Amino acid sequence: MYLCVDLDAFFVSVERVFNPRLRGKPVVVGALPGERGVVASASYEARSYGIKSGIPVSRAYKLCPHAIFIRPDFRKYEAFSEKFKEILYHYSPVVEKVSIDEAFVDIRGTERLFGPPLNLACSLKKEIRETLKLPCSIGIARTKVIAKIVCDRSKPDGLLMVEPEQEKWFLFSLPVDVLPGIGPKSVEILRNLNINNVKDFFQTPDWILEAALGRGYRLIKSFISGGDFQILNTMKSMSHETTLTEDTRDWELITGVFYQLLESLCQRLRQNRLVARVCTIKIRFSDFKTITRRVVLTSGTNSQQKIYRFCMPVLQKMLKENKRVRLIGLSFSRFQNEGLQPSIFYGSEDRLNRFNLALDSARARFGSGAIFSANTIPVYFSHSGV
Ligand SMILES: [Mg+2]
Repeated sequence: MYLCVDLDAFFVSVERVFNPRLRGKPVVVGALPGERGVVASASYEARSYGIKSGIPVSRAYKLCPHAIFIRPDFRKYEAFSEKFKEILYHYSPVVEKVSIDEAFVDIRGTERLFGPPLNLACSLKKEIRETLKLPCSIGIARTKVIAKIVCDRSKPDGLLMVEPEQEKWFLFSLPVDVLPGIGPKSVEILRNLNINNVKDFFQTPDWILEAALGRGYRLIKSFISGGDFQILNTMKSMSHETTLTEDTRDWELITGVFYQLLESLCQRLRQNRLVARVCTIKIRFSDFKTITRRVVLTSGTNSQQKIYRFCMPVLQKMLKENKRVRLIGLSFSRFQNEGLQPSIFYGSEDRLNRFNLALDSARARFGSGAIFSANTIPVYFSHSGV
């Protein structure tokens, strides 16, 4: 899960730390009335008069002459922004700052330390409030794009989480301009086609979207689904196999290579938020005879540790003739959406799942060799490895 953390009316809020008399009043940071300049930040009180970032200060003055106008002081804002980022790192090592007052925090694998995402977000919000004296809004969701949309919906001073299973329901009711890449121009084009909310957008045939918006529509769609609700129908199986550099009957090496294949496929499952029900093992011997065995799992899973336990006895049987092995292959099929599994995040599989997600994020960050399972050690000490 990702957090999108955004400081509310950032410049105004910082000014209010230094001057509490600005609280509860319409405040505009940008320029003084009569000076040239645009609104950099407006308090929510000022926004109710129609003032927003980017409009000329002269217009803001017409909209609300009794607002308090202030010139920006970026040194102050930078200092607060630095401190903001520091606080985010208390909760996760993976922080992506997108602007002076906004960042994404990857919280996969943090549950052991901070509890479920909502607990973590509450502590973070409290720390920002206590340390910086600033209000912030936090959106929690499966992808960064959705977390950002959720965050915008929670403003000001909000906290909102959308569970993966609720995503579709949540997004479909929103106006189409919440989608990244849909600006005022596209909104108008789409409105003429009677496409007003996200649901309309998703239910419109691709060729119409392409004719209206060009190929860019695909990217917009993928931002939202992000390997989710559409992938299931198209993907039937995934497989991975490897030919050993030398034929071998070394059991430890064979299981080590097998575990590597298993891990990388499970990682792919997790990336796509899928679980598999069926696993097929393929072995080719040095005489090119090839055998496959199907293993049906008791329930869908994407954890390599669980699947490994199911597969080991089968693999052992496959190798009972003690012939040299030339190739090892593995494939998964019968997918289900991970979200459809009963509470995979907080149930009994919780710890294993968090462990694997932490493993994935360490590898995504530091490379696939950054951390490896003890089962695969024989592969690293052998010349016949992958
Ligand atoms: Mg902001």
